Amino acid sequence: MSVLRRMMRVSNRSLLAFIFFFSLSSSCLYFIYVAPGIANTYLFMVQARGIMLRENVKTIGHMIRLYTNKNTTLNGTDYPEGNNSSDYLVQTTTYLPENFTYSPYLPCPEKLPYMRGFLNVNVSEVSFDEIHQLFSKDLDIEPGGHWRPKDCKPRWKVAVLIPFRNRHEHLPIFFLHLIPMLQKQRLEFAFYVIEQTGTQPFNRAMLFNVGFKEAMKDSVWDCVIFHDVDHLPENDRNYYGCGEMPRHFAAKLDKYMYILPYKEFFGGVSGLTVEQFRRINGFPNAFWGWGGEDDDLWNRVHYAGYNVTRPEGDLGKYKSIPHHHRGEVQFLGRLHFRRGNIHTPANCRIEGIVSKPVKQFFISKRRFPRVKS
Ligand code: UDP
Ligand code: MN
Repeated sequence: MSVLRRMMRVSNRSLLAFIFFFSLSSSCLYFIYVAPGIANTYLFMVQARGIMLRENVKTIGHMIRLYTNKNTTLNGTDYPEGNNSSDYLVQTTTYLPENFTYSPYLPCPEKLPYMRGFLNVNVSEVSFDEIHQLFSKDLDIEPGGHWRPKDCKPRWKVAVLIPFRNRHEHLPIFFLHLIPMLQKQRLEFAFYVIEQTGTQPFNRAMLFNVGFKEAMKDSVWDCVIFHDVDHLPENDRNYYGCGEMPRHFAAKLDKYMYILPYKEFFGGVSGLTVEQFRRINGFPNAFWGWGGEDDDLWNRVHYAGYNVTRPEGDLGKYKSIPHHHRGEVQFLGRLHFRRGNIHTPANCRIEGIVSKPVKQFFISKRRFPRVKS
């Protein structure tokens, strides 16, 4: 009898342990699979705290060494080892004076007096009506949201592509912020919101390909910015023109504690010239769900022999609009693509996108803002 009870007790305990570990692991799996964006952010925060702690320990160690070593003196060039020195560089580039005179026949300068640096980003909700009211006063904004500077020749014609589904409260905040910034930068621009319909996993990369094709039908653009709707630049000197090399604009995100999560990070906001985009054969089409498509773009860019540039220092800071939407399912196939494959298979060509998968999309060429007549 007692043997049986003992056995029972053991099996009860192990049953409880089993239930406990089962529920723990399934909730972990659920979190990672269903809300990968959030899971990723938390993981990175833990990692970033580790990095910061290590840096602090190094700095303290360095200070102690300086203090105890009487022969060494602290001077302006003494920085703790291992730190990115560019963070400490004083901005040496000069921005033009207020009284600078433009000429409609000359290219707009890149460093304009209006670009003052740090922007106070307000992420509180605004309505589309408020946005319409605000921008309808600006008669230079043409129907469809196309704007070009009149006092000088824009250096870049920029199409801003925004992948979109069910983030209606983000769009007006995005426009409120981006329109004045791009005007200050004297760029010619228009926004293309590419909306995915249906309930299939989100395909950010394919939406960008669709947007690229549609934008090119609409006008002759020479620079294309691939922009998450929830990313707001915190510095108006983060110039949205393109360059010799593909550019990663969103280098320092508040959600990643303003640290680049990894060297190959290419997410959030990036920009390529039309020529560069064609040469790398666009984004991959095969990435359904959250994650991996930005890393694939990085691979494509490097495979084509390009490097990626980023804004220096604090210029690349971004604030994310908090979102409480259910996260996208994670695209686990990306792990396969990444392994050994420099770029995604040849069937993912941008030429293929219009004939086949475009049915899944409702391409709302909802360019913004439409000026009320
Ligand atoms: N997106 C969207 N609806 C969705 C999922 C994504 O509009 O349901 C777009 C949106 O532009 C967003 C971008 O895709 O900024 C990246 O997705 P998400 O914000 O979920 O990625 P995370 O910030 O979690 O990495
Ligand atoms: Mn986001």
